[in-house]
Amino acid sequence: NRKFHPDDSVIDLGGGALIGGKKLAVIAGPCSVESEAQITAVAQAVRESGACALRGGAFKPRTSPYSFQGLECEGLNLLQKAKEATGLPIVTEIMGTEYVELFEECVDVIQVGARNMQNFDLLKKLGKRTTKPILLKRGLSATIEEWLMSAEYIMAGGNQKVILCERGIRTFETFTRNTLDLSAVLAVKSLSHLPVVVDPSHACGKAWMVERMAMAAVATGADGLIIEVHNDPKNALCDGAQSLTPDQFTDVMGKLAAVAPCV
Ligand code: PEP
Ligand code: MN
Repeated sequence: NRKFHPDDSVIDLGGGALIGGKKLAVIAGPCSVESEAQITAVAQAVRESGACALRGGAFKPRTSPYSFQGLECEGLNLLQKAKEATGLPIVTEIMGTEYVELFEECVDVIQVGARNMQNFDLLKKLGKRTTKPILLKRGLSATIEEWLMSAEYIMAGGNQKVILCERGIRTFETFTRNTLDLSAVLAVKSLSHLPVVVDPSHACGKAWMVERMAMAAVATGADGLIIEVHNDPKNALCDGAQSLTPDQFTDVMGKLAAVAPCV
């Protein structure tokens, strides 16, 4: 709460990449890790364009049990290889309490997905048993208060390194995958000292909307962005329609540099 903590929290994502400071932090990478060649190529491309961390799902929370579920532990190994090749810290989603020790060992930033925002057992264990930053996505239909209370669960356990992520909420609108709630960025920045990241990819579900929503998020005061980038979006195993190509991502970074200094 700002009342007890007036200054913005600045969190190290790993290797000195800061979020919450003066510079915009951009996390980028594919929805899912698919192969060594794919994750390493995307990691190299996004690092060259100025991303400060690599995202990639190894454990995927898919709506259908018949959709690609991720490479799981093999995906974590491939993320580590991409980190070795590029130096980028890795951000990846945790699905359950049984993985907390493993993620503490081999992940730089632990993502809690929208569907797990109110998995209180998971939040408690992350608070008590991890020292790594937690990227806490807003639940599909979570109010700002519910979202902040989930952050509180983690911090109450002892881990103060929470990064909030607005990724769009469920509304009556179906043209976009979700509805990006940029007013929530203003709200949480005024209520809380925690850094806020916006995910325009999952918010819109359409690659062509990502650039302008990213710029709008920066104008609103977001501390960072998390953007899906794939080397072959048409053949992506997950979320190809919202994924930028590396060249498109480079263009977006150029536009962002004009409005905010990037890491
Ligand atoms: C993701 O970032 O890959 C993801 C599944 O996002 P969300 O939890 O916001 O749907
Ligand atoms: Mn995705």
